[in-house]
Amino acid sequence: MGDLRNDFDQLLQQRRWLDPIPAELQQAYRAQRLEEFNRLVRLWGPLLPISFIAFQAFTLVFYTPELHGPDLRLLLWTEGVTGAVLMLGLAVAHQPAWRPSYERWIPWALGLILSVKVVAGFQLASTLLAINQVYITLLVVLIGTLSLQLPMRACVKGCVLGGLPFLALPWISKLHYGLLFFGHYLLTAAVVMFVVAMREDKDRMMFLQSMRFNRERQEVQRLNVELAELARKDGLTGLSNRRVFDEALRGEWDRARRQRASLALLMIDVDHFKRYNDRYGHPAGDHCLSEIAAAIGGVVRRPGDLAARYGGEEFVILLPGTNADGACELAARLMDKVDALRLPHEASLTAPFVTVSIGVAVCVPLGAMTAQSLTDAADAALYEAKAAGRHTVHCRTVG
Ligand code: GH3
Ligand code: MG
Ligand code: MG
Repeated sequence: MGDLRNDFDQLLQQRRWLDPIPAELQQAYRAQRLEEFNRLVRLWGPLLPISFIAFQAFTLVFYTPELHGPDLRLLLWTEGVTGAVLMLGLAVAHQPAWRPSYERWIPWALGLILSVKVVAGFQLASTLLAINQVYITLLVVLIGTLSLQLPMRACVKGCVLGGLPFLALPWISKLHYGLLFFGHYLLTAAVVMFVVAMREDKDRMMFLQSMRFNRERQEVQRLNVELAELARKDGLTGLSNRRVFDEALRGEWDRARRQRASLALLMIDVDHFKRYNDRYGHPAGDHCLSEIAAAIGGVVRRPGDLAARYGGEEFVILLPGTNADGACELAARLMDKVDALRLPHEASLTAPFVTVSIGVAVCVPLGAMTAQSLTDAADAALYEAKAAGRHTVHCRTVG
């Protein structure tokens, strides 16, 4: 986890202005940008035609005396093209197949609208209308680049395409006006590019921060799962721990009571284990317990069965829906399995190898009986097995 955070910390700290997103994160970055674009289309989709109509209404109201003759025709033509490109752009933006390549086609649409406006600005006879055209062109630059949150590259492309008609400046008759228009266009585009560059830089940084946050969250979730898993396991043997057994016993006891089903419990204790420790040492004792635990885990097969370490050198197996015959058969099988390990135990008073004693308790929970009565019975059966010379199984039925 530390490594991942350090990776992103480094990326964020060593970043210079407008550093690109690292190649391995490009895909996620583009996906996030596309998501942002989709959100903007939903937001601006209806606003674009509305603002277009508002512009037209503005021109109609304030420039009525100027709107006649060739100027009116030119303006109608210009606004017709602008409106058509806007509508086409909106239609394309709603096509899932075209959306991902929005950075490529929007600059062309923006460039087309801008160049039509610039050309119209050159052609208009009315000075008032021509100046109005300059302002509207600058507004289009602002709206087209800032509102759509295009990347810097796309903004430059749109503005360069839109400004191409200025190449005709040496040939136009109103050169002073043309240069003024060009100057305003350049200044506005430069300011816009600066703002776009700052916004893009912030976008990239926020993207890296969100990636760092996401990775950290995933890591925390993973660790939580791992921790919850660890909290249920016994550290030495890998079997479930006492807490899990206590929970399971309560749950299975209630279920068996509801279903009037049989519940069996095996309590397994290693014989003369203190002597084993004294003879071979504690680490060897730990190893021996792990081996026996593996054997115990190996005999439990049904999904509802639970093998757990009860404490010290004692283990339990909880068997829901199992009667005395089934439980005793499993106990015998476990005994054979432990015997088959042939773990040497020279200090044992029972056999030359490690053996276990098993107490089995079986009951169908009824009336005021509690789960404690099952563990008590298993414990008593185990005591009997010990008293009978160890290395044996004793069975008790409760109730
Ligand atoms: P019995 O046959 O009557 O069961 O005798 P016992 O020696 O097995 O029983 P006792 O309860 O006297 O001793 C249990 C021993 O188990 C004592 C303790 O040191 C050892 N023990 C408990 N937990 C662990 C463990 O995690 N690792 C090791 N190595 N020994 C353990
Ligand atoms: Mg014991
Ligand atoms: Mg013991």
